[in-house]
This record gives sequence, structure tokens and C-alpha cells, in this order.
Amino acid sequence: MVTVSDNDHVVIVGAGQAGGDLAANLREKAFSGRITLIGDEDSYPYSRPPLSKAYLLGNKIRSDLLVRSDEMYGRFDIDVKLGTRVKSIDRQRKRITFGESEHLDYDALVLATGGSPRTYPDERLNSSSNVFYMRALDQVERLRPHLTSGTRLTVIGGGYIGLEVAAVARTLGVAVTVIEREQRLLARVTSPVMSSFFDRIHREEGVALHTGRSVSGFDFSPDRELSRVVLDDGTIIETDVCLIGIGLQPNTALAEAAGVEVNDGIIVDSLLQTSDPSIFAVGDVARYPCSESGGTRRLESIPNSTEQARALAQTLVGNPAPYNAIPWFWSDQYELKLQVVGLISPSDAVVVRGDPQHDRSISVFYIRNDEVRAADVVSNPREFAMARKLVTKRAVVDPAKLGDASFPLKDLLPVVNSSFSVGGMPAYHH
Ligand SMILES: Cc1cc2nc3c(=O)[nH]c(=O)nc-3n(C[C@H](O)[C@H](O)[C@H](O)COP(=O)(O)OP(=O)(O)OC[C@H]3O[C@@H](n4cnc5c(N)ncnc54)[C@H](O)[C@@H]3O)c2cc1C
Repeated sequence: MVTVSDNDHVVIVGAGQAGGDLAANLREKAFSGRITLIGDEDSYPYSRPPLSKAYLLGNKIRSDLLVRSDEMYGRFDIDVKLGTRVKSIDRQRKRITFGESEHLDYDALVLATGGSPRTYPDERLNSSSNVFYMRALDQVERLRPHLTSGTRLTVIGGGYIGLEVAAVARTLGVAVTVIEREQRLLARVTSPVMSSFFDRIHREEGVALHTGRSVSGFDFSPDRELSRVVLDDGTIIETDVCLIGIGLQPNTALAEAAGVEVNDGIIVDSLLQTSDPSIFAVGDVARYPCSESGGTRRLESIPNSTEQARALAQTLVGNPAPYNAIPWFWSDQYELKLQVVGLISPSDAVVVRGDPQHDRSISVFYIRNDEVRAADVVSNPREFAMARKLVTKRAVVDPAKLGDASFPLKDLLPVVNSSFSVGGMPAYHH
């Protein structure tokens, strides 16, 4: 296990959320050796969540997105190389190469290379000027001018990014159709009750939803723009602009070519060290041992990136900090703010507060072995704060009270404490 001393050089590949945070965290933890942060985009590390939310809507400008002020990197003596793609890693020499024939030697190398949108396997589609993916600022800047009132947007993929873009587009007066291959929206990430909640919300907002439907073909105009999307039931969707949000492919090629172990992500241990003791990985690209769900997991979220960056900085300066956070996440759609904590399992018992068929603010709790293990809270930050406590404590609570929206969640917390004080048996079992 490598820790760094003040004569050492830490090279971070990927100037995104995790890479930028790590560089800053190392300085904040008093590492005074050399730090180089290399990214292939032209911007200093910026926050991606607003790309499908406030920035797309026009409520934020570029400089609002920066994770840290650009002046900080100079002040912290972090050497930042933007617009620079790292091409290879020579693990024997501990060297990375980039540009024409430039190289840098490292003592510790951190791969924070994130991921790229999974692309639709259709060359003609992908080269069409009105078809977009959403990961980087420049993609959003090209999409934004297309989202004008009366335009017809087709979104392929009913995941978080697709639904957030659908919500922004509806707000801008765009006619929106969403196509989801699974039987329900957000199928990969949430429960049926939350899927049907968001299904209702989007329909109420005027989105045309096609779940359980695949695309069977595309038609193009003479000038090679996508003009129609054809579904497997024969439905034809006239399209002016198309957003494809069908998932993320972790950027593992660099690691793989260097012989670092990868498997849908770069494999790391709980200290975020790869199969090479001088190389680490953080953020969307890292597949880590997850005690919450068992096995290994790769998470695509800001909290995961920032908390891994913090843990790794601490480890590198000599205070090993195993990464073991309880995941959380958020998504904004229309005026709704979804906040999620914990990881769900298909066998969880589900307790709902509120009426998912009519309300626009509900909370859903997931119970495993009598313990609250995860929660989805829509537009109720106070309740989310309580939900986090319940999940963190793996609280054993009375499901009837949990599901009673008039029963304050905070009143369940003392029950939690007293239940543990009687040997872990929940009070309501007595
Ligand atoms: C539209 C959108 C909305 C999102 N909304 C939310 C949200 O609401 N909440 C939430 O928690 N998360 C959200 N996320 C996810 C969140 O943004 C990511 O989890 C986070 O950005 C991951 O950070 P990262 O540093 O691992 O990767 P990234 O931020 O992707 O950074 C990786 C960087 O490495 C660069 N790179 C890759 N290979 C090389 C190379 N060889 N050489 C040099 N540079 C390289 C990439 O170009 C990129 O700049 C959203 C993501 C997107 C795209």
C-alpha cells in the first residue's frame, strides 16, 4: 500500500468531480508534494448534475458549474493540464504518456476517468446533428438551442438523465416523448412504486411515455437528420431532436491496457487501491467492495465521488480510511426533488408515506430483516434528513407508524434508540 511523502508526485487522470476533489483534498490534508491533474476536457472540474437540470433550463451559467474556483488550483499549487488525454500507463516505469510524446513519472497514480454515455449501436443515428448524448458541457450546449417551444423531443431511455431532460424540455414548452425498453421507468434504480409515481408525474406534465417498448428503426431526412423513431409496436414518433440516455460505460480502457484489473469498472479494494499498489481509482469508474449491498459495486453519483476522493486523500497521506459510505443521490424533475439514501434490494418490504397516485410529495422506505435500509423521499428535505438517520442506524421501526404520514418521523428515532437498549428488539414487538 502506497502512502505519499512530501517528495512524491501524485498524478490524477481525469479532471472531473472526483479528480478535482482529490487534488484539493490532498492539499487540505497538508500534502505538500507535487500534484498534477490531467483532464481531456477544456474546463476545470465542473459539476455535471446541473447539465440536465438548471443549466439546461438556462438558470445557471458556465462559471456556476465549477466544483472549485479556477484560482484555487494555482493557490494550491496544483498543476492542471486541461485538454490533455492520457494515452498510456507504463507501470514498470511508473509513467504516463500524453500529447505527442510527453510523459510524467508518478509515485501514486489515481484514475478518475469517469464514464462515457453508452451509445446506440447505429452509426447513422450517432452522426445525426439532432441526436445528443449527455455527459459533457459541450454536448449540453449543442442540445440547448434545440429545446424551443413547439419542438418535438424524443428521449430514448427512461432513467434519471432522460427524465430530467424530459422535465426541463416540458418546462420550456417542448413536446416530449420518452421511450423505455423496460416495463417501467427507472427500472434499474428504483422500486415499482417510485417508477409508477414518476410515470404519473410525467404523464400529468404532458409527456408521452412508451414503456416496455423498443426502437425498431429510425428514419432520416435527406439532410441526414433524424426525423422519425419507429417502435416495435409500429408507433411512429415524429422527431425534431433526440436525446439518448441509456446508461454509462466506465472509462476503463487506460487501466485495462496497462494490465490493471477491470470488470465493468476498475476493481479497487476498500482503500480504493487497484490491483497495482501504486494505482488507485475513484468516482464513477471505481468498482469497490460494498458492504451495504454485499459484493462489489460501481456507483454513479456526486456523493460517491466526493466521499471516495476524501477517503483516498486521507489514505494517501498515511491515515488509511476504508471507503464504506451509505450511498445517497438526488434527482430534480419539474418542481420535485427526489432524494435517495441507501441501496434497495428486490426483496425489500416497501412502506409508503403519502399517496403515490395523487400526491406530489411522498416517501418510500425499504425494510430488510426488519431494518430500514433505504428511502426515497420526494420534495421533503426534513423528512429526508430523518430518513438518512433511520437508514444509517438501520433502525427497526413500527411499519404502521412509518407509513402514517401524520406520524412525525423524528418520533420514530427515540423508539429506535430504546429498542436497541432492550437488546435490539423493536419496541413494537413487546
Ligand atoms: C447529466 C448528468 C446529471 C447528473 N445528475 C446527478 C445528480 O443529480 N446527482 C448525482 O449525485 N449525480 C449526478 N450525476 C452523476 C455525477 O455527475 C457523476 O457521478 C460524477 O460526475 C462522477 O465524477 P467522476 O469524477 O468520477 O467522473 P467525471 O465527472 O465524468 O470526470 C471524469 C473526467 O475524466 C476525463 N477523462 C477520461 N479519460 C481520460 C483520459 N484518458 N485522459 C484525461 N482525461 C480523461 C473525462 O473526460 C472527464 O472529464 C449526473 C451526471 C450527468 C452526466
